[in-house]
Amino acid sequence: MPVSRLLLLALIAKLWFALPAMGQQPSAVPPIPIDATEELVRQAVSLVRAGDKLTPKAWPNGARVAVCLSFDVDNELLWRRTPWPVPLSQGEYGATTGLPRVLDLLDRHSIPASFYIPAMSAALHPQMIQDILQRKRHEIGVHGWMHENLTQVNDAAKEEQLLTQSIEYLTKAIGKRPVGIRAPAWEFSQSTMEQIRKAGFLYDSSFMAMDEPYELLASGQKTGMIELPINWIADDYPYYEPEASGSLPDPELVYEVYKGEFDVAYRERTMFILTLHPHISGHRSRIAALEKLIVYMKAKPGVWFATLEQVAEYVKAQHKELQANPSK
Ligand SMILES: [Zn+2]
Repeated sequence: MPVSRLLLLALIAKLWFALPAMGQQPSAVPPIPIDATEELVRQAVSLVRAGDKLTPKAWPNGARVAVCLSFDVDNELLWRRTPWPVPLSQGEYGATTGLPRVLDLLDRHSIPASFYIPAMSAALHPQMIQDILQRKRHEIGVHGWMHENLTQVNDAAKEEQLLTQSIEYLTKAIGKRPVGIRAPAWEFSQSTMEQIRKAGFLYDSSFMAMDEPYELLASGQKTGMIELPINWIADDYPYYEPEASGSLPDPELVYEVYKGEFDVAYRERTMFILTLHPHISGHRSRIAALEKLIVYMKAKPGVWFATLEQVAEYVKAQHKELQANPSK
């Protein structure tokens, strides 16, 4: 066989074995080796960690528990990578039907909620912002520009630009600067923590290290950033979304899970944050189960329904007071 042919075969073989690696997303964080030293493991987990618990000794007016209903208004952007018309319509439902139904439900019970809206989601349906603002009771927070997964942006400058654009877009749309952020797709890159501190957010709501308010640490250092944590149990996506391997359970079963989360928060006197999506929980059978949950929680004495912004403001004020009077 001529040498040139051998070289060509060798090149093809090299490319063939390189293909799987080329198809993978570049990983911004290296895995932790099984034989890593304790020091290395500590370093690897230290980027963002849980600091002090910040649950106040008492909630306003002696309430036992703070309850926050929150909605991630992702709509069509969840199908950004494969924008075929039919799946997109599943997201569009959030704007046409889900959100109006959610807002009516909150009106019926006179309770506030926090809405995290990607800028492009708001741009597709500007009426959503008007409808939320009109109630004069709700909060709107940042949820990215295009619902970008920040671990896949792989460019700190680009990520910061998207964050700045998102804040500016919402500031203009709602007439005030948003104070809260929930990272799109609930992901932080290596740069996100520093960027949201620089942007001056009062609180973040993307982490899961506790189920009560806490302070975020960055590389072991206090940040002053209040975390109002979420989790997949108190969310609708894993249960109802077939693309997330959801099993489409009876909404009554999902109600029982949420109720169980609330009951223990009530007993422990902490906080219950529920994260829902208008295009998922806005459907008829599900909104009925959500209403049942609201009626159940409202019937208990000492339940403070608040936006995450109100909770963060209260926690911040209490924490300052505690620092000034440690004996109190
Ligand atoms: Zn989202």
